Amino acid sequence: MKYTGRITLFFLSIIVSFIESFSETSNLWSILEAASFAVIAFLLGWVYDKAIYYKNKAEISETKLWDLLKFSPEPIIVYQDEKIAFVNERFEKLIQSSSTEIIGKSILHCVLPEYYPILKKHLQDISEGNKTLDRVALKINTTLNHVLDIEISSARIVYNNKPAVEVFLRDVTGRNKLEEESRKNEELYRFITENTTDLISYINPNGCYGYISPSSKCMLDYNQDELIGRNLYDLIHPDEVEKVASLILQADSELDFASFTHRLKLKDGRFIWLETNARTIRENSQKLEGIVAVSRDITERIEKEKKLHETNVMLRFMANMDGLTGIANRRFFDERLQEEWKRTKRKSLPFSAIMIDIDYFKKYNDNNGHLAGDDCLRQIAKTIKDTLKRPGDFAARYGGEEFVILLPGIDEQGAAHVAAMLQENVINLNIPYIPTEHKPVVSISIGCATLIPNEKLNPEQLIKLADDKLYQVKESRMNQVPLNQLSHLA
Ligand code: GH3
Ligand code: MG
Ligand code: MG
Repeated sequence: MKYTGRITLFFLSIIVSFIESFSETSNLWSILEAASFAVIAFLLGWVYDKAIYYKNKAEISETKLWDLLKFSPEPIIVYQDEKIAFVNERFEKLIQSSSTEIIGKSILHCVLPEYYPILKKHLQDISEGNKTLDRVALKINTTLNHVLDIEISSARIVYNNKPAVEVFLRDVTGRNKLEEESRKNEELYRFITENTTDLISYINPNGCYGYISPSSKCMLDYNQDELIGRNLYDLIHPDEVEKVASLILQADSELDFASFTHRLKLKDGRFIWLETNARTIRENSQKLEGIVAVSRDITERIEKEKKLHETNVMLRFMANMDGLTGIANRRFFDERLQEEWKRTKRKSLPFSAIMIDIDYFKKYNDNNGHLAGDDCLRQIAKTIKDTLKRPGDFAARYGGEEFVILLPGIDEQGAAHVAAMLQENVINLNIPYIPTEHKPVVSISIGCATLIPNEKLNPEQLIKLADDKLYQVKESRMNQVPLNQLSHLA
């Protein structure tokens, strides 16, 4: 009980005073004496109570402390007289051994030999009261021969009434492994960024360079420090600023990776083509922290591609054009016929074709020579081309001295009009059959046909119809220069 001492002594003193007051002559002095005796007894009782209270409290704290040590989540050892005097469960687990096997042994037996001096010095410092807050890093060997990275910190305590050192251990094997891996990765990344010929850059959300690899010198002729802090848009080609700005804007919201080509300005003002792969770096809150970009100089490739494209265009042109006359050849005509047929069918428009054949061309060749014949073919091809006005009209050399015209969207009347103009224009060329004579001149025969494409018809039918018409015309020689005028050439 809290007041036991005080109550007992107080009542004891009252009883003693009471007995005394009966044995002696009762006067004021004896009453005062009894009262002071009671007060002294009360004070003694109070001192006694306090002593009992602190004793109990100390016992409780010590029990609590040992509970804490025993069940601490960190491994703990108590070291006394150069031996292990106590280990908690956590330490037993760490070392994979039971306390009975450990207690009584030197603390050094579980530490790797190269760490003896460090540990000894540390324990000595603590025992001598040289307080040190520094953690000491060690390696220990478990019973199963696993080497663990440990950090220890110690404190001087009293254990079983004798001075001892309490050692707190922390297993940092995993952390050290992670640190080692991240250090290795960092070294690797640094090596790559410092030595790559690609341009590696870190762009802040405001578009400024936060980092650029040393390859900026040989790629752009800029030193790293000339670019760091500079805005990316100062260097991007004006034609690509919008594209890059839109990608950065998207990166701010949802885009995480982008691959694109763009031009970047060199120090001397020229531009090179780069292929850039960019990835966003985000904070935990998903807020954009920056963009890492790896760019490769593709100027050479772009130039090669440009040349290749030009060559391809040229090749296609050559593949589609008739070498002699410069208008489309039969191959291109076949392709175009199918396309235009489908297009006019979709639109339910009329589709006209005109077949052209130069009259008595064999004789022309015979009389004027093959080269003159070639020249005649060229002149007539040019006249055909020049007579056609609409962008959809298409002329091709069908073969030999025959030409064909496709007039998508043009009806019979329109086709007849074109045919009449053609015939007139060829006559107006005034190409004489005999160079010294002006007349008779080279003329053409024409066969026209018009169809409205549908499912039951095909484009070959249109050409056949035009060809049949041409044959009929040839037969009748209706539109030709009268044969009798040419008879002397026969
Ligand atoms: P028709 O009035 O009935 O059409 O008689 P034609 O002589 O024009 O027709 P034919 O089919 O008998 O002869 C066509 C001539 O065209 C024969 C050929 O030498 C000539 N020819 C074809 N291709 C070329 C060419 O590329 N250059 C030249 N110079 N002549 C060619
Ligand atoms: Mg012919
Ligand atoms: Mg002919």
